Amino acid sequence: MSTIIEQNLQRVRQQIRTAAQNCNRDPHQITLIAVSKTKPISAIEAAIGAGQRSFGENYAQEGVEKISWFRERLQRIELVWHFIGTLQSNKSRLVAEYFDWCHTLDRPYLVHRLNDQRPAQQPPLNVLIQINISCEETKSGIAPNRMLTLAALIEKCPHLKLRGLMAIPTLEIDFQRQLEVFKRMAVLFSALKRIYPSTDTLSIGMTNDLEAAISAGSTLVRIGTAIFDARDHSHPPKQLNK
Ligand SMILES: *Cc1c(COP(=O)(O)O)cnc(C)c1O
Repeated sequence: MSTIIEQNLQRVRQQIRTAAQNCNRDPHQITLIAVSKTKPISAIEAAIGAGQRSFGENYAQEGVEKISWFRERLQRIELVWHFIGTLQSNKSRLVAEYFDWCHTLDRPYLVHRLNDQRPAQQPPLNVLIQINISCEETKSGIAPNRMLTLAALIEKCPHLKLRGLMAIPTLEIDFQRQLEVFKRMAVLFSALKRIYPSTDTLSIGMTNDLEAAISAGSTLVRIGTAIFDARDHSHPPKQLNK
């Protein structure tokens, strides 16, 4: 019998295939990250059982506990861990030492910290520049016109690898309005790729705007609710290992 999480994953994968076909894209160009923040180990295990390998976490400490848990017990299966939360300077060491990717790089001093803190024996940390695409004052992410300055800084760091861009736009329900914002991200991504041809990742699209993101060119969607159901907002989870 398949679990709810397995059924949810199959549905989301189908949604990605359909969205890709609708705009003549190859579905294999789109990586699905299962956003497991606030969810227990058992939920992640169910997703792994259903073939999922890439996971996204928002809270450094919680993510590190999960990463360690699986590294100790699941050596045969290689998981890829993405840090997608706000990067706080007092938590950057955890991100640099444990995660494979960081999506939320948005200021020069964090570039320096992550580069200094990434252990030299590990492969470079894959990083994305977070863009404040909805131009909100409170949101994290840098203004689009500062993207290339930050990219040049990252390129000089031997322990970081610039892979592309990420954004979390303001919630819009209307498809056309979602698409408009994501298309601005696609334009920025093309500009970045012209200068850094090895960048290959545009991280946009969540449960509510996955189709618009894929239609605008997303290569990586970050899906939580549609896979794991709504989150319990008491945080951190009381019992991780349940
Ligand atoms: C929580 C979160 C997601 C997943 O959101 P859903 O709407 O549950 O799919 C994706 N990206 C980021 C940065 C998040 O914080």
